[in-house]
Amino acid sequence: MGPAEGIDGTALRVRVPAKLNLFLAVRGRRPDGYHELVTVFQSVSLYDHLRVALLGLPGRRHHPAARRRMRVELWADPPVPQGRDNLALRAALRLGERSGIVPLEGSADRDTVRTIIDLDKRIPMTAGMAGGSADAAGALVALNRLWSCGMAGDQLRHIGAELGSDVPFCITGGTALGAGRGTDITPVLSRGPFHWLICPDPQPLPTPDVFRAWDRYARPTGVGPDEVLYALRSTDPARLAAALHNELQESAFRLRPELRVRRQALLDAGALAVVLAGSGPTLLALVADAAAAEALAYAVARWCPGAVVASSPAGGPELMVEVGTSDTGPLLRTLE
Ligand code: ATP
Repeated sequence: MGPAEGIDGTALRVRVPAKLNLFLAVRGRRPDGYHELVTVFQSVSLYDHLRVALLGLPGRRHHPAARRRMRVELWADPPVPQGRDNLALRAALRLGERSGIVPLEGSADRDTVRTIIDLDKRIPMTAGMAGGSADAAGALVALNRLWSCGMAGDQLRHIGAELGSDVPFCITGGTALGAGRGTDITPVLSRGPFHWLICPDPQPLPTPDVFRAWDRYARPTGVGPDEVLYALRSTDPARLAAALHNELQESAFRLRPELRVRRQALLDAGALAVVLAGSGPTLLALVADAAAAEALAYAVARWCPGAVVASSPAGGPELMVEVGTSDTGPLLRTLE
């Protein structure tokens, strides 16, 4: 892509954090097939990066009529899902549909206005960290600005909920209580930071398999999120360690018994607590501080080479506009 394409504010970047579930209770299966959840979400400093840009002749890409019919393309390297299999593209098309933008199919000619979504994927996939939902959230927030859709946060969250249960939280970021199928979001207070070693697993564990195992073997416990909420206000990692709770964990361990072994190995190596990330298979090791996270990463490097040191809470999607170019690349201005 040539540098001129970013000069006049027709390109934006957004980085979107992954999520942790510090508390996850399953209250049962709903008539619509989803599960009723109570969860405490927190964003964590592990990000996917998206760049969205309008391409086309300047006279066309600034023309309101031309911008109502455009080609929307996803640029992402496999194994990231391609085309409409990717939640970021699906989010773009859904936002376009609600904003009167008609997507053009087929090849582009010189008059075609194109929107590209360039996805730099860093959140592990099918890992229980809502990477796909983060990308959908990033696309909604960035394209709402790039296309001047003028949607409020609640409208974006409503569209997001149609795409995936974690998308409304990914649009919100920070720390929040999630209810319903996880889409009813209430922000809550968290002091911090809390420090983590995130241990992805090379073998994916699909979310539906874990919920099926829960249906078969588990029952609701009635445990509530209060202890986690108090711990988040206290800043005390030991208190949070004692409160972490995930009712999908036993179901995931049934499907993948080696996760239980890895969890114990992380505890033996010094973690304060280890909990499954969402539906897994990633394990989240909570430690006392940043130095302890690095020490743990070294200690488990042989059998967990992809481990990532991170802290929480992170914010929500961070939007930057490209306002010009320098010798070293585009100049960026943070929007929000
Ligand atoms: P969650 O925690 O929300 O259950 P996850 O972290 O377990 O999600 P994701 O990485 O979000 O898993 O992927 C879930 C599914 O979404 C996979 O089947 C994947 O192929 C699909 N998917 C669609 N778009 C994306 C994307 N942009 N990034 C990752 N996965 C995507």
